[in-house]
Amino acid sequence: MLTTMPVKLYLGAAGYCTHPERLTLRGGSIKPVPFPAGFACIIHPVHGPVLLDTGYSSRFFDETARLPNALYRHITPVVYRDEDSAVHFLKRIGLLASDIRYVILSHFHGDHIAGVRDFSEAAFIYLPRAYDAVRSLGPIAAVKAGFLAGLLPDDFVPRSLPVNSHPKRWAEVTEHAGVVAPDGFPWDEVYDIFGDGSVLGVDVSGHAEGMMGLLLRTEQHTYFLCADAVWSSRAFREQRRPHALASIIMSDRREYRRNFDKLVQLHQQFPDLRIVPSHCQEVLRSWGMGGTEL
Ligand SMILES: [Zn+2]
Repeated sequence: MLTTMPVKLYLGAAGYCTHPERLTLRGGSIKPVPFPAGFACIIHPVHGPVLLDTGYSSRFFDETARLPNALYRHITPVVYRDEDSAVHFLKRIGLLASDIRYVILSHFHGDHIAGVRDFSEAAFIYLPRAYDAVRSLGPIAAVKAGFLAGLLPDDFVPRSLPVNSHPKRWAEVTEHAGVVAPDGFPWDEVYDIFGDGSVLGVDVSGHAEGMMGLLLRTEQHTYFLCADAVWSSRAFREQRRPHALASIIMSDRREYRRNFDKLVQLHQQFPDLRIVPSHCQEVLRSWGMGGTEL
């Protein structure tokens, strides 16, 4: 068993942006294709409803109304309606925003954090390295890094529970939680998010510094929610890295490549494990969107 206990999982998306496919997939089309701003709702048997990322919200448009932040919207055209929000999605599965106890942030790009102000009862969980990389940036540097500070609530830091900065070797997680890494699992270290072996964080930096993916399982399947380690499932299935131009927005090209190769390896070694990139329309269409419990 990769994790100790099953959770319930819902996949949704709040709005989408458009980019030429070729930017995200070598040899892809030059036509703009939609990239949904995915998020996940995890119903933990002990901790209740937990969100991973939030997708867009109307505040994204307020925050990008003026320069320099308007550059973000100019480079990344966004389509979003209020009924697409994570809050509305939760309503459809019978939850209120105030039911969310934790919001886990994979990284601090605007399309992942735009909705966090909606969750006033939640504590925020993320890798300290991810926030440290953006918290002190000036206005221009921040927008270049895809970070819009105004999307975070004023009490963001006091409500934060950064994940322990030292990841655990699998042997330690095995010792305290009893879960065992299967042979050939590509990452040596994981963060035990709730300390019970149920949800494991994996550092998949490269697209953004300190970006964290989540390993978890439902009654039926094991999932790796890999954030923006790839933009689509075709990337790891067909081993197609993004266009060289896309590396402009990467925090570390070499780290990106290393984690990309591990994702390819994960898919080859464990074909039944469901890998969920945040922006993959194919995945959201087949496993999510409609509020289906997984
Ligand atoms: Zn991103």
